[in-house]
Amino acid sequence: MAKKTSRAANKMIYFFGLSRTDGGGDMKALLGGKGANLAAMTKIGLPVPPGFTITTEVCVHYYKNGKKYPDGFDADLKKAVAWMEKETGKKFGDPKNPLLVSVRSGARDSMPGMMDTILNLGLNDETTEGLKKATGNGRFAWDSYRRFLQMYGDVVMGVQKKHEHDHEPFEDVMHQLKKEVKVKEDVELTEVHLQELVKRYKKLIKDWTGKAFPNDPMTQLEGAISAVFGSWMNERAIIYRQKYRIPDDWGTAVNVQSMVFGNMGEDSATGVAFTRDPATGENVFYGEYLVDAQGEDVVAGVRTPLHISDMAKDKNIGPAFKELDKVRKTLEKNFGDVQDFEFTIEKKKLYMLQTRNGKRTALAYVKIAHDMVKEKLMTPEHAIKSGDPEALNQLLQPIFDTKAYEQARKEGRLMATGLAAGPGAATGVVAFSANKAEEWAKKGKGVVLARIETSPEDLRGMIASNGILTCRGGVSSHAALVARQMGKVCVAGAGDIEIDYHKGTLKCKGVTLKEGDAISINGSTGEVFHGAIATADSELKQVLVAKTMKPKDSKVYQYYDFIMTLADKFRTLGIRTNADQPDQVENAIAFGAEGIGLCRTEHMFFEGDRIIAVREMILAEKESDRKEALATLLPYQQKDFEGIFRALAGRPACIRLLDPPLHEFLPQQDNKKGQQEVAEQLNTTVAEVNRLVHELHEFNPMLGFRGCRLGIVRPEISEMQARAIFQAAAAVLKEGVKVKPEIMVPLVGFKKELDLQVEIIHRVAKEVMKETGKKFAYSVGTMIEVPRGCITADEIAETAEFFSFGTNDLTQTALGMSRDDSGSFLPRYQELEIVKNNPFASIDETGVGQLMKIGVDKGRSKRNDLKIGICGEHGGDPSSVVFCHNIGLNYVSCSPFRVPIARLAAAQAALRAAAKK
Ligand code: ADP
Ligand code: MG
Ligand code: MG
Repeated sequence: MAKKTSRAANKMIYFFGLSRTDGGGDMKALLGGKGANLAAMTKIGLPVPPGFTITTEVCVHYYKNGKKYPDGFDADLKKAVAWMEKETGKKFGDPKNPLLVSVRSGARDSMPGMMDTILNLGLNDETTEGLKKATGNGRFAWDSYRRFLQMYGDVVMGVQKKHEHDHEPFEDVMHQLKKEVKVKEDVELTEVHLQELVKRYKKLIKDWTGKAFPNDPMTQLEGAISAVFGSWMNERAIIYRQKYRIPDDWGTAVNVQSMVFGNMGEDSATGVAFTRDPATGENVFYGEYLVDAQGEDVVAGVRTPLHISDMAKDKNIGPAFKELDKVRKTLEKNFGDVQDFEFTIEKKKLYMLQTRNGKRTALAYVKIAHDMVKEKLMTPEHAIKSGDPEALNQLLQPIFDTKAYEQARKEGRLMATGLAAGPGAATGVVAFSANKAEEWAKKGKGVVLARIETSPEDLRGMIASNGILTCRGGVSSHAALVARQMGKVCVAGAGDIEIDYHKGTLKCKGVTLKEGDAISINGSTGEVFHGAIATADSELKQVLVAKTMKPKDSKVYQYYDFIMTLADKFRTLGIRTNADQPDQVENAIAFGAEGIGLCRTEHMFFEGDRIIAVREMILAEKESDRKEALATLLPYQQKDFEGIFRALAGRPACIRLLDPPLHEFLPQQDNKKGQQEVAEQLNTTVAEVNRLVHELHEFNPMLGFRGCRLGIVRPEISEMQARAIFQAAAAVLKEGVKVKPEIMVPLVGFKKELDLQVEIIHRVAKEVMKETGKKFAYSVGTMIEVPRGCITADEIAETAEFFSFGTNDLTQTALGMSRDDSGSFLPRYQELEIVKNNPFASIDETGVGQLMKIGVDKGRSKRNDLKIGICGEHGGDPSSVVFCHNIGLNYVSCSPFRVPIARLAAAQAALRAAAKK
């Protein structure tokens, strides 16, 4: 990273240029991401066209003061322009040698919804003639002018279509002219045509706004700056900020930069590139460019861009490529991460226009972090901080089955090869529209969405599909972008494929597929096959779960493991898993779990014919009958626990006593057939079963006869479970396996509830130790999942040796909202931002989180070494993991496959907390 930069108070404008650069890469908050990095690039000697950045503070002031600029701003702006004139040797408004600039918005992070960049500012009738003379290219000069009028008229003066279905007003005028002069393409318009177009554009602006287009460059500049600030508060930007929780008072910076031109002929070009492949992470130059083009032409998809490596062979711009390749290395070295950058070549000379950390797939993330840390280009801290925990899921996505894949190749089913834009394998029926894709996906079919190219309208279909295939578009196309961000399998720009939407066909090399036919795409290689290809577990699962692959044979595993090992070095939060069976425990341990945070004993009640004994127990009138039924269950439970203890090999096991309401074990009221069966099994009448079902029926099972309430009314259940746990512990100890049972009493709101259960547990423990002659350590604690439990946590901690927050129930009880029927209003609540996120997915920090904090503080006030964890769904949610770290929990517990996500999130939480100190 660049060195820290000092700053004077009230400085409103920062220069970047050869003679002087005020800002730096560490000033993103003040200069925006774009401005800070332009300064950083200038400082390390990269060829950046000079310019200046107006700070975000000016924007903040502007809004705080009824859209007025701070005192002295006008004077500073004039000085800045004068500085730029000196720096470039050109002059604003000088017909002989005009200074032209771009005006670019720039928040801390690139933000859709902000103002579009205005290029070529400074042009008017006189300077356009000057530009023509200076370049000897009249067409270029007048084309630049008409582009400027179009951009300025649109974004600054508001000449925009009024309804969604209208044409763009400028496009209309251009279209009309093209009709009159009988040309089809923009490039066919001559200088004279363009001069006419400029005239008509000016008239359009006048007619539309009642104001003339400003000739004076300084007036143009002031207008553009106000428009950038104005766009900070436009609807799209506001909505975006709300969605991503970006505060309004960050403001945006404005970058004013001298223009360079990629559209000056065959020796000029413009492009975008990544320093490494953002889909696979390979250390190869990745990007594309267009000769004789300006601005967003590459991304807009008007012409098909060329691959960056082709540049080397181009006799005009080949030499600039050599420099670009050097820049690629310089950028990585200085920014310490893969860069996504924009460049322009003007008459063989290279200019850098932007750089930022590149977005990447999970595969690319682990590979790049692994490689760059080893190459000493990236710090280990950055390797951890820059990952998206949730995205690690992508590494578990299926790949092609090796045999089926070879078979498909042998059969010659390979149709085409495009760009490997999103790693993984997708197979399914081919759909040519987003609607069809959604429709089929809803029916449970695997779908591959194939489009000539995709646009934001296709988003829902893309989400519904297993994979995305496009015929057109490169690395910066919409499809590739979405694939990178959502982790979708994607092959982009398979140019040999022809899709005919009208006929509903996809053709390539003599093969024709109809919509609905099977297709398979390999997003790791770019290959497209016709027909289905069986998929297999991801390499990660093959190594860790199925154990059919050795770690040394899987690169992906090695990269993943490198990151996880690194994460474990940084994190302080423990990671446990929610698991009820030995195989689940083994998987979770393979993924890095350090113990069980929640073992739900009731899941064991459903296996095989145990449910009959459970029902007998429920049905029994007399305590002695109940005990008999429980005695049948005991050996089953004991066996289960033994299996779990063995799988844990000495790691802690937090086991919860029976929690759900008893009616869940009986066929429900409308299930007459089920009741009949139970009556037969248990040798009783249907009427009797029905009576019982009625009696146990709960209006709101969440608040009813469940949790520790069961164990208090029917202590023999707790007794049986405690006995099963301790006998299992003793048995496994005899085998030489260490055990660490933690017995957890659910739904405690009163200390006395816990006391009564603990009494039973301790008594049984003593009995079992005596009977078996084995001594074992164990602890008894409680789940904190009702508000009263949080508020009286100090009392409860007198008895409890540990707490575990059951945030599913705590959220339900704190919000008075039942998770199962919240679907009828919660989506609307999220839309209206009554809740920012689904509180059942991410902890409601201000409400439920506050209760947790009270629980932690009060609990530890009585027992300062109180171990506290969380075992609700939230334990695997990255933002909730960060919250848990911050309130001082000892561990989080989540489902086995989310363990890697929690490990990375926990490491990030520790690093972020350390950075704040
Ligand atoms: P965005 O934030 O949407 O990426 P930019 O400010 O990067 O917008 O501008 C878009 C494009 O305009 C750039 O990629 C670049 O091609 C072009 N551009 C911006 N400033 C200049 C300039 N000074 N000279 C030449 N082209 C420029
Ligand atoms: Mg850009
Ligand atoms: Mg619960």
